[in-house]
Amino acid sequence: MSAELDVAVVGAGMAGLTAATELTRAGLDVRVYESSDHVGGRTASVRVDGYTIDAGAEQLSPHGYRATWELLARLGIPESAVPLIGGPIAMWRDGRAHAGVAEPRGLLTGAGLSPLARVDLVKFQMWLAQRRGEFDTDDPDRTCLADTTVAEFARRYHPDVHDYLLQPVAGTFFGWDTERSSAATMLSLLLAVGDASSWRTYCGGMDTLARRLAAGLDVRTGQEVQQVVSTGQGARLQIGSETVTARSVLLCVPAPVAARLHPGAPEPEGEFLRACSFTPALKVSCLLDRPLAPARGVPPYVLLTSQAEDDVLSAILFDHQKHPDRAPAGAGLLTLMPNAATTSDLLGLPDAEIIARLTDAAARYLPGFTVANRRNFVHRHAHGLPEATPAALALRSRFMARRLRPIDYAGDWVMLRPASEGAVRAGALAASRVLSRLRAPLSIPTQARSRRVETA
Ligand SMILES: Cc1cc2nc3c(=O)[nH]c(=O)nc-3n(C[C@H](O)[C@H](O)[C@H](O)COP(=O)(O)OP(=O)(O)OC[C@H]3O[C@@H](n4cnc5c(N)ncnc54)[C@H](O)[C@@H]3O)c2cc1C
Repeated sequence: MSAELDVAVVGAGMAGLTAATELTRAGLDVRVYESSDHVGGRTASVRVDGYTIDAGAEQLSPHGYRATWELLARLGIPESAVPLIGGPIAMWRDGRAHAGVAEPRGLLTGAGLSPLARVDLVKFQMWLAQRRGEFDTDDPDRTCLADTTVAEFARRYHPDVHDYLLQPVAGTFFGWDTERSSAATMLSLLLAVGDASSWRTYCGGMDTLARRLAAGLDVRTGQEVQQVVSTGQGARLQIGSETVTARSVLLCVPAPVAARLHPGAPEPEGEFLRACSFTPALKVSCLLDRPLAPARGVPPYVLLTSQAEDDVLSAILFDHQKHPDRAPAGAGLLTLMPNAATTSDLLGLPDAEIIARLTDAAARYLPGFTVANRRNFVHRHAHGLPEATPAALALRSRFMARRLRPIDYAGDWVMLRPASEGAVRAGALAASRVLSRLRAPLSIPTQARSRRVETA
């Protein structure tokens, strides 16, 4: 019996939508199955009462996001639709916000670092500049420091470099515990995305690109895939009471979900899937009746707090500062993010309790917050961000050299990169693997076969 589809893509996040776009362009019959009622996955946005709330991802950079910018150009989305973010990243210390985190001027201002730590920040920057070529976001496993955690690396420097720079940045932007995640990945990413003053966001919400991609595809939302089984030449998907067959299936879901949907994954796929742990992420949106900012200094886009001082919050994001279209005129929008250590404990609590814990913590930094805060939303991500531990990095090259099979994978975790660019790159790579497999000649002469990538 012939398969109903050429390719079934599971998950309409950036990885799945990118892969489906490439495969549809190549002329294949592709369908995307998405369990939730909207596309975008962890880049989704929610629209309420004139506010546009980014429920997951917040920003992108003109640097280190090559595949994303190429996709935007191909879709005719101009750079002006992805404008610069207004406002710096600041670090809270000694009762005030210190701007300049992840910017060159931070070397001068210290951005919350003590004078002795600033000297070490210069040493750290010089060390990084000399080894720039050794860090690669596409191959973090081949990068120096692959077996060193961020916290181990930070011990080379003054404790402030960890407590008031690397920990708050890793905790907020990657959702990481510095004792677990690899320094190689973090430093590769920081080098790739560059100066925070160049970061950008989409007009109209972070789901802009996902929605545009989905518009050109056959996407079925509200369709949760329960299981995927290889049939040798193709695969079978179980979706509720329906069974669908496809010549290829792409699992574009977080690694722990892929492992659950395809429990019989052969090695070396299985071992990498099991090693690709994720940290959970949680955000509380605060719809304000006015745009608030910390009492002194330039209004920041992000106010970071150190786990050494605050055992609840990791950051406050000022979404109205990020882009004026996130809140109605005269109003404000904030995002509260708990620190990595607290997120797991909070995740299972009722919304009201999470909101109370985070808003109580935020009031300390923002005069007038309690009065201005009108409505709150909780966004939970059980699989928030791939951890990129040294153990996962060590298994990645074997996974990348895996055979072409009917069931394959995409997602930020494939690149061990906790960013939408990782998902786009993994989606494009997965599409090329599916094309190689489906378009491989049926009968290949023996000598030629030994030179080809093996297909199952
Ligand atoms: C809080 C947070 C902040 C972030 N900030 C940034 C940022 O500022 N910049 C940045 O570049 N990146 C950021 N990221 C990371 C970025 O969002 C992700 O790397 C990227 O969106 C991952 O895309 P994906 O397609 O790999 O996975 P996902 O987006 O997780 O997509 C997987 C999809 O599969 C669906 N699905 C799951 N199970 C099933 C099933 N059984 N059947 C059918 N469908 C299923 C899900 O609903 C989802 O839509 C952030 C992430 C989080 C959580």
